[in-house]
Amino acid sequence: MHIIKLIILLFIINSASFAFGQQKYPKQAADIIKYIIDIQVTDENNKIKVTENVHAQFTTSIDTFFLDLTNFNGNTGMHVSRVLEQGYPVSFIHKNNRLGILVVPPPKNTPYFDFQIEYEGIPSDGLIIGKNKFNERTFFGDNWPQRAHHWFACVDHPSDKAYVKFKITAPSHYQVIANGKHIESTPDINNPNFTKHIFETNKPIPSKVIVIGLANFEIDRSKYSKSLETSTWVYPKDKTNGRKDFALKDSILKYYEKNIGSFPFEKLAHVQSTTMYGGMENASCIFYDENAIKGDGKINELIAHEIVHQWFGNSASEKEWSDLWLSEGFATYLTNLYIEDVLGKKAFIEQLKKDRKKVIAFAQKTLPPLKDTLTQNIQDLLNPNAYQKGSWILHMIREQIGIELFWKVIQNYYKTYQYSNASSKDFFKILEKTTDKDFSQFYKDWVTQPGHPILSTKIKEDIITDSTSNLSQFQYTIDIKQQQKIVFRFPLEVEILFEDNTKEFLALYMDNSIITQNLLYSKRIKQLILDPNCKLLFDEGKPSK
Ligand SMILES: [Zn+2]
Repeated sequence: MHIIKLIILLFIINSASFAFGQQKYPKQAADIIKYIIDIQVTDENNKIKVTENVHAQFTTSIDTFFLDLTNFNGNTGMHVSRVLEQGYPVSFIHKNNRLGILVVPPPKNTPYFDFQIEYEGIPSDGLIIGKNKFNERTFFGDNWPQRAHHWFACVDHPSDKAYVKFKITAPSHYQVIANGKHIESTPDINNPNFTKHIFETNKPIPSKVIVIGLANFEIDRSKYSKSLETSTWVYPKDKTNGRKDFALKDSILKYYEKNIGSFPFEKLAHVQSTTMYGGMENASCIFYDENAIKGDGKINELIAHEIVHQWFGNSASEKEWSDLWLSEGFATYLTNLYIEDVLGKKAFIEQLKKDRKKVIAFAQKTLPPLKDTLTQNIQDLLNPNAYQKGSWILHMIREQIGIELFWKVIQNYYKTYQYSNASSKDFFKILEKTTDKDFSQFYKDWVTQPGHPILSTKIKEDIITDSTSNLSQFQYTIDIKQQQKIVFRFPLEVEILFEDNTKEFLALYMDNSIITQNLLYSKRIKQLILDPNCKLLFDEGKPSK
């Protein structure tokens, strides 16, 4: 996702309550296979009525099967009226935003359990029912990170993915979008003026990106390829702006298909919405902040970022929240690579420098490692550590192995973990296998320990004059020092600029807190420039004495 609106967001989030911090998600011996969510909405009030079927597989026999679902609190939340198992009513306990279903052991050959849960209420979050900027009534799912369970019962964690089928019954004047393939929209036989819309995914997706969206939309569909339709869904009053802003959507998609692999999902819709984020990468239907659609053609990087997430985040997802950089760092760096492709090297380097500044500024406030198990509030993980530092880690890898091999690593990693989950370690295993190189020190330095190198240089000059020829030579002792506490190991390029404006490059390897170079030149050094080609995440420290 893109966090343009983070300041507003932090305020909203802090005032809402989360069920779990990142380390506390309770594990159970069950795997959700599919959610079938039959949801009814109306214009009369903000109540939703849901009949949900959950197919689950148990890895060992359990007594109680848990799903996350927000309790009715007297005002909002869900009231569960009935739970069925394989068609028969069973006992359940719904408290502390968890629904515990007392499982009747199934016959041994039953491949999976089928639960039916009936509930209704006003979602306290997750499904945002309200008015858009044109004062029109809209419904938008906005689940990240764990807000899905405010409107449907689920295992609200990215590690348990499931197929989803939505049956959405809504007043007929709404256009309706959801994940997956649109199966049909038919008049509802029980309610005149209501239409039932059916959507179904043919791939499993995590709860953070399972959404529906209902609004008055102007829909623009295009055939991207034989099997893939792309579309834009914008408010009718923003029709012209939408057309301008999404003009490059298919060429951006093409760039990533060429470099990563086939698009992972059934369709790709770009949807104007009321999401609290700048953009939210919901699987196969990206939701954009309604105010981002201005018609100035300036959201290509936002579009690129959210498209990358379809592969990284939605299909190959992080196993734990601490591995969030596998989503956000990837989306950030692969957007930078798109910038390099379209706008050229200079724009790319400028972006890298901007990103590096963000990492340095953030590290002065707080210093988590890239794999961040320290930050407890998941919302707080949306920070330069996951985004820009994650991106810089990929950039340093690319600089060490070259762009062709880098894309090969990305492709292999994706192929291995598509529609599944990966950890930071899993990614590095693929990196080592693809490149046949040892990245264990790199992993230790950049992924598990906090911070980055803070480098200073000290230069000592001695002039040696030959008594017979009277020619002078310049003898230098150059010390490069890592000022931070923990020593990193990394290649470092240094540009030596001489007084006559000629240059020379030194390729060093920093394997110690201080390295010394003794050099002899016939001309005088004017300046030393560390990392002239923007290959290293580092901060320039105060000159050493
Ligand atoms: Zn993102």
